[in-house]
Amino acid sequence: MTAPLARVGVLGGTFDPIHHGHLAAASEVCAALGLDQVLFAPTHRQPFKDGFDSASPEHRLAMCRLAVDGDARFAVTPVDIERGGITYTVDTLTDLHDQLPGTSLYFITGADALARLPEWRDAERLTELAQFVGVTRPGHSLPQLETPHALVEVPALAVSSTDVRRRVRAGAPVRYLVPRAVADYIAQHDLYAGGMDD
Ligand code: ATP
Ligand code: MG
Repeated sequence: MTAPLARVGVLGGTFDPIHHGHLAAASEVCAALGLDQVLFAPTHRQPFKDGFDSASPEHRLAMCRLAVDGDARFAVTPVDIERGGITYTVDTLTDLHDQLPGTSLYFITGADALARLPEWRDAERLTELAQFVGVTRPGHSLPQLETPHALVEVPALAVSSTDVRRRVRAGAPVRYLVPRAVADYIAQHDLYAGGMDD
């Protein structure tokens, strides 16, 4: 048995698809807080999104795995996809606690997601399960929150999954917005080409 990691970051998201904004945020928080690892946790279904044009959980999970491959600080957890149904962060953190006893969890959220934190299921309990870490995101100002949280400024990357999907549909390039293996996967599986997002 290897010793449990002491400090693990968790970045939840739909990752539809994962892009360099996610990876830069995870990398910066990892360094700023001295984390041992950051886990990317793709949702099964997001409570605030209708998901009508989204890629399947399996495709989103596969793209996350391709994106973190080769960075020893990063890993992907299928915990939310395996549980199924609507993903609530309280369940993510509870399950990760069971899987990683003795580990302190740091839940990372961009400024836009952080603003909605009070609406999340069991919002009060969340702060017992993990420390919250807000990260800056271009186009979104950091909210004033009563929930205690750390703040980390990350190099601004004005990329969103919505924009990547729109670009794929329009035939515009996504290379350099997403890792090369993710761009190749999108093309190979013909993702996002036919849906509607606007
Ligand atoms: P969509 O446009 O589909 O909502 P997204 O780009 O916002 O996609 P999500 O999967 O919704 O990606 O985001 C997961 C987490 O990563 C959220 O906490 C979000 O705020 C954060 N995040 C996403 N993009 C960035 C970015 N460019 N900079 C900093 N944080 C980001
Ligand atoms: Mg989003």
